[in-house]
Amino acid sequence: VLEKGMPERSAVTTCAYCGVGCSFKAEVKDDEVIRMMPYKDGKANHGHSCVKGRFAYGYATHKDRILSPMIREKISDPWREVSWEEAIAHTAKEFRRIQYQYGRTSIGGITSSRCTNEETYLVQKLVRQGFRNNNVDTCARVCHSPTGYGLGQTYGTSAGTQDFDSVEFTDVAVVIGANPVSAHPVFASRLKKRLRQGAKLIVLDPRRTEMVKSAHVEADYHLPLKPGTNVAVLTSLAHVIVTEGLFDEAFIRERCDWTEFQDWASFVALPENSPEIVGKLSGVDPELIRGAARLYAKGGNGAIYYGLGVTEHSQGSTTVMAIANLAMATGNIGRPGVGVNPLRGQNNVQGSCDMGSFPHELPGYRHISGEAVRDIYESLWGVKLDDEPGLRIPNMLDAAVDGSFKGIYIQGEDILQSDPDTKHVAGGLAAMECVVVHDLFLNETANYAHVFLPGSTFLEKDGTFTNAERRINMVRKVLEPKARYADWQATQELARAIGLDWNYMHPSQIMDEIAQTTPSFANVSFELLDRVGSVQWPCNEKAPLGTPIMHIDGFVRGKGKFIRTEYVATDERTGPRFPLLLTTGRILSQYNVGAQTRRTDNVMWHAEDRLEIHPHDAENRGLRDGDWVRLTSRSGETTLRALITDRVSPGVVYTTFHHPDTQANVITTDFSDWATNCPEYKVTAVQVGASNGP
Ligand code: SF4
Repeated sequence: VLEKGMPERSAVTTCAYCGVGCSFKAEVKDDEVIRMMPYKDGKANHGHSCVKGRFAYGYATHKDRILSPMIREKISDPWREVSWEEAIAHTAKEFRRIQYQYGRTSIGGITSSRCTNEETYLVQKLVRQGFRNNNVDTCARVCHSPTGYGLGQTYGTSAGTQDFDSVEFTDVAVVIGANPVSAHPVFASRLKKRLRQGAKLIVLDPRRTEMVKSAHVEADYHLPLKPGTNVAVLTSLAHVIVTEGLFDEAFIRERCDWTEFQDWASFVALPENSPEIVGKLSGVDPELIRGAARLYAKGGNGAIYYGLGVTEHSQGSTTVMAIANLAMATGNIGRPGVGVNPLRGQNNVQGSCDMGSFPHELPGYRHISGEAVRDIYESLWGVKLDDEPGLRIPNMLDAAVDGSFKGIYIQGEDILQSDPDTKHVAGGLAAMECVVVHDLFLNETANYAHVFLPGSTFLEKDGTFTNAERRINMVRKVLEPKARYADWQATQELARAIGLDWNYMHPSQIMDEIAQTTPSFANVSFELLDRVGSVQWPCNEKAPLGTPIMHIDGFVRGKGKFIRTEYVATDERTGPRFPLLLTTGRILSQYNVGAQTRRTDNVMWHAEDRLEIHPHDAENRGLRDGDWVRLTSRSGETTLRALITDRVSPGVVYTTFHHPDTQANVITTDFSDWATNCPEYKVTAVQVGASNGP
């Protein structure tokens, strides 16, 4: 306080990093944020915070921000600064030309999980009402789309079942493919507090993360499974629960379809799902599988928390369904302390999905083929909507390479760095005639852009983010947009330029339209959020102040659905050329591809990504700690420095991906989840060898 002085003004807003959604008081002086103070009445964080939300805000005023729109004819040309009017008119003209020349479905858009609900709603509306197609997708495609599919199929709604407060009633926590200590720190603190009070912990993870053992935590069971074997191990847990009669028959008979349960039970009871057989293929001691299954089924309230180690696999959706099966079989649904809880990575990935950013779904997860749903939007927007799903991001890129997709509007997303198979992404972007990047910085994708529209940070706009517990939190403006427009205003300008009659004066009016058309948001308004702080959807006539815990009296789909989850090995195989398996994750001080955190003081805590390798594997290759190594896969190669540690098992290597030089996605494969195309980032066969450096 002494150093930076007293604030001139402040506002309570929401962290723009992870899906915990912590509330902060942003304090401003001389038109700069001088402090982010954790807000004690924030319902997701209760006054706590981590080093990202607390300290990593300097990117908002970083010199790298682009504050003027720019255009260029060809991507080899230099950028030319232009007025907003010229940039918007040029973009609208280009999009119209492309559609006239190549057809209505030759353009599309990508929404951002970093932007507000109101902004993502407008981008999907621009695509559907303005472009007249369903070619809209979101970065959830590469992270939690299997959550949407898996929980939608089994429970009827594409979201976590609990609020964070629920952890206070948990007796057994199961953490699968997630390291909340690094990626969801404020939630991790609450979980650790509960563990100190005596709750038990089961961790399924190839790596010995801080959840397995650290200063304040020691897991009761760590199942160090081989990357790619999640479904086998989860089905084996179910095998123990069924064959030892540990399931909750009363719950299943009342809440699920008993015949479907019997079918599922006979499947999981097959010998191939036994701990002995699964132990061999997953590398997990069968007794650990047995012990963990018994503890989860009979240890009291069991809650499952999972992350991208579940979803980013070729069987990502199957894994989510296997988790949902376990919770139903043991009756761990519909009360405090239990449930299935996806730990969402980005601040508003839940919201971007809720807002209809998928090519097959309108806001509120309603399929585009539903006539009654289309009617609502057709009468409000005055257009006829396509009843066929549009293109997903990978399909847009395929179509671009094939020559039928020519233009894209990308808001707040760096697909070149964050999507799989970098060469393919670059090829798709290079084949388009109008790539519009709307972002804070000239990111990697912008190398292929023809138009750059300057974005706004969360400090420069009003709106809402929805966190991992479905909580709709207010985002409040404390700075004027540094590049004239908040993102929602820029999208509105583009919509007007292509002929749409949009007249939103404030994001609250966009939320009013969302509430008018989306049953799960029917009672949500800025007035309500200002009054009560935040609410969790569904928030409607039946639940006017929201719904902390879902599926209390029945599943949203009616009866909970058990689905067989057959293990299918990934096509990515190790062999003599590529004998090791690479998996990836994050560290506490950095965030995703680092576009923001690398432009803050947090960079002092993590200046580079390193490759974790087990001492045996390092010794076999003559590597010492800190040596440069070449990491090679069937897709490509990169160079980084070794970190020798027994956190990883022999045969497994691990890296973070916060720095662009790491080029993790040059290495990863193009395999993806069978249901959603979510890329298989967590399993890549690699070789590691000595290198002289980059
Ligand atoms: Fe909270 Fe996540 Fe922000 Fe950290 S990064 S302050 S845990 S919302």
